[in-house]
Parts: sequence; C-alpha cells; structure tokens
Amino acid sequence: MVIMSKRSYQICSNCIMDTSDSTITFDERGWCDFCRNFHQNIKPNWHPGEQGIREIMPLIEKIKRDGRGRDHDCLIGISGGLDSSYVTYVAKEKFGLRPLLFHCDAGWNSDLGVSNIQKIIEGLNLDLVTEVVNWEEMKDLQRAFFKSQVPFVDTPQDLALFSAIYNFAAKNDFKYVITGGNNSTECVRESLEWTYFSTDMRHVRDIHRRFGTRPLKTFPTCDILKYKTYYRWIKGIRVIKLLDSVPYIKQDAIRELQERFGWQPYPQKHYESRFTRFFESFWTVKKFGYDKRRAYLSSEVLTGQLTREQALERISRPELDEQTMAQEFEYVATKLGWTVEEFEAILKGPNKRYSDYKNNYFLITLGARLSNLLGIENRIFR
Ligand SMILES: [Zn+2]
Repeated sequence: MVIMSKRSYQICSNCIMDTSDSTITFDERGWCDFCRNFHQNIKPNWHPGEQGIREIMPLIEKIKRDGRGRDHDCLIGISGGLDSSYVTYVAKEKFGLRPLLFHCDAGWNSDLGVSNIQKIIEGLNLDLVTEVVNWEEMKDLQRAFFKSQVPFVDTPQDLALFSAIYNFAAKNDFKYVITGGNNSTECVRESLEWTYFSTDMRHVRDIHRRFGTRPLKTFPTCDILKYKTYYRWIKGIRVIKLLDSVPYIKQDAIRELQERFGWQPYPQKHYESRFTRFFESFWTVKKFGYDKRRAYLSSEVLTGQLTREQALERISRPELDEQTMAQEFEYVATKLGWTVEEFEAILKGPNKRYSDYKNNYFLITLGARLSNLLGIENRIFR
C-alpha cells in the first residue's frame, strides 16, 4: 500500500524531513534542501520583532488611511486554528486595525474550532461573515478526490476556504487581506508530491469530471492563476502575512490567547477541522507513507521552537490512538456516503499522483519560480 521509494532511507541531520518525501535532496553535511533554503533565503529576509514592525508600519498606516469611512479596513479569514486566531488578535490589538472576519464553513468544523472562533469574536468585539459551502457539492468533490487516489484529498476543503475569502474580497472591494500564513510554523513547505496546488482548477476539474456525479454550481472556486493576476493586479488585492513581522512563538501565542480569551489549544496544527485531522493523522500516513507532522515539526525545529530530539520523539508516536482512528474512519466514511467496507476498498486501491491527471503545473511553477527570483516568495516549490 505504501509507496516504497527506491532510494535508501535518509533523514536530514538538521531537521526531521526524510526520504518519505521522495523528491528531497541532501548535501554533503546531510542537510536537506528545506534547511538550506531556510538559511539561504528565508532567515536573512525575515525580521520578526522591532525591525519587522518598523518595516510594516507604513503599510499599516496606509491600510488605515484607505479604510477611512468604511466599516472595516481589512479582511481576515478565520478558521479557529492558532495562526488565524493569533493574527486576528495581533491585527486588532497590536496594530489597531479594524478587520472584518470571514469564515468559510466547509462542513467539517470541529466543535473546538467553532468555540475558538466564537471566543475571538466576542473577546475582540469583531464582526463575522460566514459562507457555508453547499454540502452536497462539497461531498461530491471530496468523493471524487478520494476515488482519484491522489494523496491530497483535502483539496476540496482547501480550495473552498481559499476561494471563498478572495472572491468575497474582490466582490466587496477589500484591498487588504491579512492571513495567518507565517514562516514560524510553515517555513518547510511540503513538496508537491505531498500537497499539490489545491487551486489548480484544471486539475480539480479533471478529477471532478472523471469521478464527480453532480455539477458544482455554487462551490467557491478561484484558480491560482486568476488569483495571481486578476485579483492581484486588476482588483489590487494585497495579501499581508502579518505574523512574519512580529515575534510569533507558538507556545507563547497559545498562552496569550488562552489567558486573554479562554481560547483552547489543539494537539496539532490544522485540527480545527475534523476532516483535516483524519486526513493528516490517518489517511496519508497509512496509504501514502508520509506524515505531514514531519514538515510542521521541522518548521518548529528550524525556527528554534523545538529541538530536533523533541521533534523525533513526537513523530515516533502516532497522533491518534487506534480506537480514535477507527471511529474517525467510520465517521468520515458515513459522512461521505460510504460504508466502512467501501471506504476501505478506496484506502487499499492503487495510489496515484497529481501528474496522473490534467494540471497546470508548468504555468503555476513558472509563476513561483519568477516569484522566487524576484524575492516575493522565499519558500521552495518542488
Ligand atoms: Zn532539513
């Protein structure tokens, strides 16, 4: 079931990324390309703290000026997760912005995620807009992705979350979207083998055409190329990763939100969605042989929030116990309209890659390579 790499096993001597990412490369020190990229490109350009705040202040002032006379001066997508909760707090309390919060309900919110969103809204006295994705369409697209046998079955959820907020921004004339994206917990970007672009609509459409059963009439979509060109340059939407300008240490941020709002932490990144929790702790591990925690934990090692030994210890234990995994397997199967046996058959089916379906890989990575060259994007895409 697990794709066995022909390479012999190797793990980075600096972080915990390993050959479960078959496209990883190592240098003579045994450092992986994520580590090299972090030290060559990300760290020298990243100044969380006084310098970062000084550098971003002119933009903050501009957001405030442009927002005069409007109810809100920027838009923030909130999932209930740590990154989006903390960036909301920072934007409002530390920078004095007046954000409108936007939440996309894709049908898989965990109870804890919902309660955390509520605590942030009430604690900061902010307005919230929620877009609820048509469940029948979401279900159909998710079923199609499972049937396609590609690893990244969270694409429908990701696509909806991303598209809904940028479509909303474009429609309602928001020029500034603040995201929780950050180097501190995400500087190791998983390879495309693990997570292909969820906003490559050519890819999504091909998979849905082959395996879907009903048209996507209201499902929020926004192709990455439209986002990078039309939304960026014609509509003038700017995306601001505010957390890269301030100190953002995961444990400190959790403590601050806990004390301030009674916000409750999750055991692992992205667990505000019950689907993501299942997908990351069960599906990819069992079926494809890789554990996305490896990338999250490696990010924390590189940014000095965990030692390599702590990360190795954490990854050696499964995130969920066997009984919880079995319960979640049944829950997801039932919710997607399958019996446990049908869902097991998909789990055991032959694995596919993004390249087995139509895609715009060339065009999209051309854009990413240009962004790398221009210094707009410091993470690597491969
Ligand atoms: Zn490494």
